[in-house]
Amino acid sequence: MAAKTFQADVVVCGGGPAGVNAAIAAGRSGVKTVLIERYGFIGGMSTAALVYPWMTFHTMDGKQVIKGIAQEIIDRLMLISASPGHVRDTVGYVHTITPYHPEVYKVLAVDMLKEAGVQLLLHSFVDEVRVEGDRIESVQLTTKSGKIEVQGKVFIDTTGDADIAYLSGAPCLQGRDGDKLTQPMTMKFRMRGVDLARVKAYMLEHPEEFYHKTPIDELPDLPLSGVMGFYKHWKESALPINRDSVLMFIGPADDEVLVNTTRVQGLDGTDVEDLTEAEELGRKQVLQVAKFMSDNLPGFEKASISSVGSQIGIRETRRIDGLYSLQADDVVEGRKFEDVIARSGYPIDIHSPAGRGGDNSVWVKADGAYDIPYRSLLPKRIGNLLAGGRCISTSHEALATTRLTPSCMATGQAAGSAAGIAVKRGIAPADIDVAELQQVLVAAGAVLHE
Ligand SMILES: Cc1cc2nc3c(=O)[nH]c(=O)nc-3n(C[C@H](O)[C@H](O)[C@H](O)COP(=O)(O)OP(=O)(O)OC[C@H]3O[C@@H](n4cnc5c(N)ncnc54)[C@H](O)[C@@H]3O)c2cc1C
Repeated sequence: MAAKTFQADVVVCGGGPAGVNAAIAAGRSGVKTVLIERYGFIGGMSTAALVYPWMTFHTMDGKQVIKGIAQEIIDRLMLISASPGHVRDTVGYVHTITPYHPEVYKVLAVDMLKEAGVQLLLHSFVDEVRVEGDRIESVQLTTKSGKIEVQGKVFIDTTGDADIAYLSGAPCLQGRDGDKLTQPMTMKFRMRGVDLARVKAYMLEHPEEFYHKTPIDELPDLPLSGVMGFYKHWKESALPINRDSVLMFIGPADDEVLVNTTRVQGLDGTDVEDLTEAEELGRKQVLQVAKFMSDNLPGFEKASISSVGSQIGIRETRRIDGLYSLQADDVVEGRKFEDVIARSGYPIDIHSPAGRGGDNSVWVKADGAYDIPYRSLLPKRIGNLLAGGRCISTSHEALATTRLTPSCMATGQAAGSAAGIAVKRGIAPADIDVAELQQVLVAAGAVLHE
């Protein structure tokens, strides 16, 4: 028996990039919206796992294809000096990356949720879903004040792990076809005290030791935003980590880097024993990599760890099996869909589930963007549920691009806007007029067409 019951029109479960944008969009549409998050802060992987920077809002040839609420967040962060905005990617992997200050973002996002009239419940874990027929009636939360029931008309699954779809009995998929293995997990960490001028000088002297797309010729005039390589140093280290280089991004402080180099493979991010092992392995690797960097890399002589993720970063777990599953071909061909609700120019970036994994990325043809259709947000079997973010309906390969933060923000906004329309019209999300949804999204700044 629940100690307390809340009622809402739209119930958004999971306060990561997708959930924040979904809740803001639903709240702004004028319907009563609740956002539920298990941690004491929002941001999902961006804050809990130190994922940084956000990439990418642009195509490879520099056209911006993600705007809307995601861009509003950047604009507001820029106004308070908590982001430089979109900057050139000096790794050379994409056109732009978007650094931001995670602590400022946590506060700003809550301000934006409140401005949109969203009720936020933190420290609340959704662990049960009550279903009648093909409809979710309520979700149950485990909290410090006991069990809480949240009833709603439309529910949005932005848990990253498709927890709500799974608990409601909607069909879900996980990992690649066949062995079901998922992309590896990574424990991210930051180091301060880095001499970035020395790092840049070393890159200019030894370009062959860095990613082949590094814009070496432009480097003298570009502020360093990211570095991938130190191939020789990494090889000589013989660290027991299945990667072939060091990957890091600069900021948010001037002498700080975010290191994305640890790798934990073969474990399932929906299994608590695997998660426990992953945390243990990930934290050990952080100490190993940080020591290797300060002992060996030019510019890191005085650097030390400044922060480590509160949890390991999880790239892939469950996803919904929806009315349309976005495929690798759709991405690579830059396919257009009549029911487009978001776009992205990020490549298919699969960190190897089992092997060492070099650069096996696949880019969208002609440096363009692909469409994400509305049907990918709609699960089979449950009529009043939408998904946004990492757990939308895709293949394992297509998930390797839709999972990036800006596209999660964009699909979250679409799910929230669709939920708002469904509630106001008193119909199921699958029955709304997609043209109306597209109008709402475009009016809110989203980019849906060339
Ligand atoms: C190691 C790593 C590196 C990455 N690198 C980049 C990068 O450089 N740039 C980039 O843009 N993206 C990157 N990504 C991708 C990106 O961070 C994620 O895919 C994105 O955050 C997914 O957003 P989401 O909102 O769908 O899910 P999440 O960010 O996972 O958010 C889900 C939220 O739901 C909450 N939640 C989950 N289950 C429950 C529950 N049952 N009850 C209540 N709350 C719940 C979680 O606490 C979390 O806040 C990376 C991801 C990883 C793991």
